[in-house]
Amino acid sequence: MKYLEICVRAPAESVESLAELFHEHGEGGVSLEQVAQPVGEDGLEPVPGAPVAVRTYLPLDERTPARRQQLEEALWYLSRLVPFPEPEFSEVDEADWANAWKEHFHVQRLTRRLTVRPTWREHTPAPAEVVIDLDPGMAFGTGLHPTTHLCLAALDERLVAGSRVLDLGTGSGILAIAAAKLGAGEVVALDIDPVAVSAARENVARNGVADRIRVGAGSAAEAAVDQPFDLVLANILAGVIIDLAPSLLALIAPGGELVASGIIDERAAAVLDALRAAGFAVVDVRAEGDWRAIVARPSAA
Ligand code: SAH
Repeated sequence: MKYLEICVRAPAESVESLAELFHEHGEGGVSLEQVAQPVGEDGLEPVPGAPVAVRTYLPLDERTPARRQQLEEALWYLSRLVPFPEPEFSEVDEADWANAWKEHFHVQRLTRRLTVRPTWREHTPAPAEVVIDLDPGMAFGTGLHPTTHLCLAALDERLVAGSRVLDLGTGSGILAIAAAKLGAGEVVALDIDPVAVSAARENVARNGVADRIRVGAGSAAEAAVDQPFDLVLANILAGVIIDLAPSLLALIAPGGELVASGIIDERAAAVLDALRAAGFAVVDVRAEGDWRAIVARPSAA
């Protein structure tokens, strides 16, 4: 199967609106790739000022010309409001698209305790090192993206052994697996994208933590049927976190916390407002390059 890839190398302030537009007009989700480089032993730092490549795909068939035109029109209107360069169009094979990135994915120390190992690479761990074996496939979440990295760092610091964790928007399952391996008692991992749900299931099984992680399709509504959680991780997008803020509050047990990520700098104030309006008190705002993660807890707690 061949796809039309649409890519905009966007300045930080336009990434969120482009991602929302691509979600609506593209297929199979949106990928965001910021140029990052390893720093020291356990860090990654986006190259300062580097644009973010925002990509989506359309299957090549008889509907492609009409869909491409709609997408180009939507981009034209958006370009009146926020700045970004001309979109780039290219044809890709599903197989290439699924595998090209693998070459650049290496064993990587992510936090004090956590390392990610792509399943196709060898690694001999140090004694206290916690290794996540991962093949994200088409799902988001290698651990290298700043939004994931911010969540992993917060998780490594804040996770209480035996606690109940929700990973909303699990993608490859990386945060859920990290939580289980760092000692969470029970983890629920949900995603609205079926591709992510199956990738997460495979990765959970591969890491031998299927007894503690339940992977399912869904979002906040599906999580609400469960007991409340001690820690809720939501690495999605600013717009989604704003919409879900009241539902997220209801999912948190007394004394529990939320880590909300996927927030580009320019949108952080709006997310903070929405969380406070929903009844959260902000505990910490963490930054990596242009990205922010917010740690918050129910203000009554
Ligand atoms: N948790 C992973 C993946 C983050 S990507 C990591 O930290 O790297 C964000 C994921 O959220 C995607 O897989 C997307 O399908 C999912 N998603 C988007 N909107 C959602 C919603 N409203 N509810 C649940 N998941 C959502």
